[in-house]
Amino acid sequence: MLVECKKCGAPLDVKENDWIVRCGYCGSTTRVARTRTLAAVTPEDWSPPKSWKPPAQTGLPTQALKKRTLRAGAGAFFGTFFTLATVAVGVLVPLFAEGVLTWPFSDAEPPKAVTRGLDEPPKGAALAELEEKHEPEPATPMQRETRAHRAGTRALARGSAALSAGDLDAAIEALDEAQRALGRREQGVHRLRAQVASRGAREVGLKVVNRCADAQALYRSLRRVGAERAAGEQFVDGCPRP
Ligand SMILES: [Zn+2]
Repeated sequence: MLVECKKCGAPLDVKENDWIVRCGYCGSTTRVARTRTLAAVTPEDWSPPKSWKPPAQTGLPTQALKKRTLRAGAGAFFGTFFTLATVAVGVLVPLFAEGVLTWPFSDAEPPKAVTRGLDEPPKGAALAELEEKHEPEPATPMQRETRAHRAGTRALARGSAALSAGDLDAAIEALDEAQRALGRREQGVHRLRAQVASRGAREVGLKVVNRCADAQALYRSLRRVGAERAAGEQFVDGCPRP
């Protein structure tokens, strides 16, 4: 079966009973059940790509990932294996160089997914330990939406507090942020905008008398957040609406 690495999107070859798969490119470990299936049966002529370039939507740098060295977690077996392999290379490479042996592969061996099949999926503490090793996954659109929603809600609260404290400029900034996060039609945004518009109109009305430039600057700020309508009616011939 071919599944997709949850982190970098690389195709990984897993066997039917494999419960957990470790990506040979980005090194992340994922439960097979949580991966997307690319092919129910691995095609016979399929071989893993020699390097993998994560697609832009994974949020990873788009440079090609090469096979990574296995971490200690892969077990003493691999450690010993690689030590022996290093020694073997020292002996075999000169033989290849002299043409005594011929290289059986056309190129360097492509990376393989390291898999672990378990008859019984682990439970309780064993499962928690495995889960902990999973690297954080990139934010889903829903998580991003939730985050934006929280930021917007915080901005609304900040805007209300600023209005109570009489800081209209800070309220306008907070409203701007809330509108970007939640949209202009959201109920709380609508309410804060009405309050900012009403307070803004009053302040423009006061400033128009002898601080025309300030009144015009405030009007421009209100216009930026769509709360300028009532303020616009405060301008007079001696101090026109900008
Ligand atoms: Zn990966």
